This record gives sequence, C-alpha cells and structure tokens, in this order.
Amino acid sequence: AIPLVVAISTAISAQKGLLIRNRTAFEEARKITAMVFDKTGTLTEGEFGVNRIRVLVPDMDEATFLSAVAALEQPSQHPIAQGIVREAKKRDLDLPAISDFQSITGKGVSATVSGRRVLVVSPGYLKENGIEQPEDAFGSGAETVVFVLFDDQMAGYVALADKIREDSKEAVQRLQQSGIKVYMATGDNQKVADAVAKELGLDGVFAEVLPDQKVTIVKDLQAQSGPTGRQFVAMTGDGVNDAPALAQANVGIAVGSGTDVAAETADIILVNSRPTDITNLVEFGRATYQKMI
Ligand code: ADP
Ligand code: MG
Repeated sequence: AIPLVVAISTAISAQKGLLIRNRTAFEEARKITAMVFDKTGTLTEGEFGVNRIRVLVPDMDEATFLSAVAALEQPSQHPIAQGIVREAKKRDLDLPAISDFQSITGKGVSATVSGRRVLVVSPGYLKENGIEQPEDAFGSGAETVVFVLFDDQMAGYVALADKIREDSKEAVQRLQQSGIKVYMATGDNQKVADAVAKELGLDGVFAEVLPDQKVTIVKDLQAQSGPTGRQFVAMTGDGVNDAPALAQANVGIAVGSGTDVAAETADIILVNSRPTDITNLVEFGRATYQKMI
C-alpha cells in the first residue's frame, strides 16, 4: 500500500506546482519555523533591465564598453548577465571574441577580451580587494550595480533593475501568519536588499553575502531556538551559489526557472517559480497533519 502522506503529497504536488524530490519533504514542510529566501530570481523575477551605463575609461564610447561587457557575460547563466546581453542585442552591437572565461560564483565573471583582462563584479568583490567604488555608482533608486575592471583598474559600471515577483508579498505574509520568520539572503547590495525587505515586510535581511555565507546564515538560524525547539529552517533559491545552503537547510526548495545545480540539490522544486506554492504546501501540510492525529 502507498502510505497516506505519499499519496496526498503526490496529489497536492501535481496540482500545486510542486515537484517533491525527497519523500520526507512533504511531511517536513509543516515543521518549518524559519524561511530564508534568496532574492534574485527567487523573490524577484530575475529579469534585469539596464538603467544606466557609466564608462570611466578616457576616450571609450558606451557601445565599445558595453560590447566588451556583454561578450564577457555571454557564457554566464546569471540573470544580471542575461540582462546585459539583452541590452547589447537591443543595440545591435557586435560582441568581440573572449578567452579564458571564469565564473567567480556569487561575485562575478572574468575573461580576456580584446587583449585585456576584464572583470564584471559585485560591490562585495571591490570591498574584498580594496578597490574604491566610483562615487556616483549608487543613485537615488534601489539599483543593482555591477562594476567593470580592465586589468584591475576601475573602468565603469552598469546599473540594472529587477522586479519583485507578483505573489512574493502574499507568500511572505501567509508564511508569517503561520508563525514562520521570513528572511532574505542576497549577494546584491544593501540598498536594493533594504528596498525589497521593506516592500515585502521581511523579518530580517542579509545583504552582500558571499555564497559560503548563505550556508552560515542557515546554520546560525538552525542553532537558534524557535517556537518548538531549534529553528527548523527552509531555504529557497535558484542559483548555483544557493546550492550549498539548500543542502544545509532542513528543507531545500529550488525555483523551477533556476539553475540545474539548485534543482538537483533541493528537496522540492517550484515548477511554476511561484513563492505562494510553498505557502500552500506549508498550510496544507499542517492541516493534513492535524486531521491525522
Ligand atoms: P542573489 O543572492 O541575489 O541571487 P548572487 O549571489 O547570484 O545574487 O550574486 C551576487 C552578486 O554577484 C550580484 O549581485 C552581482 O553583483 C555579482 N554577480 C554574480 N554573477 C555575476 C555576473 N555573471 N555578472 C556580474 N555580476 C555578477
Ligand atoms: Mg538568485
């Protein structure tokens, strides 16, 4: 006979946009007391549009600058990279050939472009390497800014913006109504993180975090006491950089539109990339459990 919970979980998951990879995950979902969401591609759509480009190399025009940056970003799966490549295509730019492409997970990318070592990196990378940020990088709005280095020298930046997913707010509110603390951990800058946290009414936010720090955030929460003993922590993410934290969490949840690495590591996959599908699962799990006891 098929155990009741398995039968129920299969039925609900098919209907609710969930793919359950680990049979115990359905039962575990009702025990969640803390949820950590990744930002980009998870609470937000991960569809970046380019707002501003600033070239700091004397005598270099914006088209040449953007071509180099887009050429470097082309092999990257990151939503920022895809936004930059789309912008270059929109402008009909020819992209130069690149070599020695390397991805610096959660920090950026690098390659040799037209004889120069080019890096596109996060504010956190600049901080780590003692490179000064251009003064006007952060305008009044909450933008995601990536910095461009040519042979280790500041060459300019690209400012982009993303949109919060339509049902993120509802998902957060309903999780909180279920007594779950909702946090966000992002590699993006503090200003963007704070704007999203405020919009969604989050209980806490961790910004400019490196991939291994996401694991630490999950571990630290697991060590805290919650309503029923230690916090029972779920992590939801989409990126390669989220995979270690998904593995560390009591319940790992991957966004369907995300990377294969995240999906392979997770217990649950959100097939339609909708955060409210998690909320449904938690609420359903709790209701079902109450009926069974
Ligand atoms: P999040 O945690 O919000 O999903 P990530 O950890 O994936 O963000 O990325 C963290 C930061 O690293 C980004 O905000 C960006 O500054 C930088 N970054 C990562 N990959 C790239 C890339 N391909 N191009 C430019 N910047 C990148
Ligand atoms: Mg992400």
